[in-house]
Amino acid sequence: MPELPEVETVVAGLKPQITGAKLVSVSDSGKNLRYPLPDFSTLLQQNIQRVERRAKYLLFYFENGQTLIWHLGMTGQFHVLAQHEAKTKHEHVTLTFTDGNTLRYRDTRRFGYAGLCDSDDLEQHAWFAKLGVEPLLDDFSGDYLRDILKTRKTSIKQAIMDNHVVVGVGNIYASESLFRAGIHPTQVANSLKPKQYALLVQHIKTVLAEAIEAGGSTISDFVKAVGKPGYFAHSFKVYGREGEPCHTCKKPIEKIILGGRVSFFCSKCQMMK
Ligand SMILES: [Zn+2]
Repeated sequence: MPELPEVETVVAGLKPQITGAKLVSVSDSGKNLRYPLPDFSTLLQQNIQRVERRAKYLLFYFENGQTLIWHLGMTGQFHVLAQHEAKTKHEHVTLTFTDGNTLRYRDTRRFGYAGLCDSDDLEQHAWFAKLGVEPLLDDFSGDYLRDILKTRKTSIKQAIMDNHVVVGVGNIYASESLFRAGIHPTQVANSLKPKQYALLVQHIKTVLAEAIEAGGSTISDFVKAVGKPGYFAHSFKVYGREGEPCHTCKKPIEKIILGGRVSFFCSKCQMMK
């Protein structure tokens, strides 16, 4: 499933290609995505003013004051292709622009979905209203994390993966940042020391920034907007490394299941405190 760094990479890939483009038509395969597609008619003859990301959603801001919201689900991909290029397998939506380019949405498993909203009302939209802060913004700080988790009795790993706390810290990035911060994944969320919250926040930001820099982690079907896979996967320190020696202390990396999700850690470098 594309995680925040992959979506950020997709947005960065799309920006130079479709910012300013004017939409002339939209066609679809007739197959349902997770939800029915929105009515695109109000967006016709409108320019895309900017493309942004909020959590794992792509936001296409149009000049008429509406925003097209798109979630990639499990296997969604966007490609910008010339109008004359043939339709490919699993291509479900095509947005055609006046410059002859098309934005093609491909989704093998069709768990992706799209919606339309007035740009001014985005933060109140059902998909956004309850979301926590963006991890890469200054709002996400050690003090913020400590405060929001002060009564939380779940594991710290489940807490940082909770979208109501902070968005976009998926399973891989949670495991990697906890390892770097030396915090055991099962530690109770409200029991960290103040400096551990700050350290964890710092490592979450670094891990995500490195993954964005590398173009996403490329798990499963994900291919970034320009079609090349990312390489962050090669630098995982714990994720997927069960039984392999820890890069720091050589102790074999262990695996547990937490909240139904597989978690990797080093029991020596991430001792319970
Ligand atoms: Zn270790």
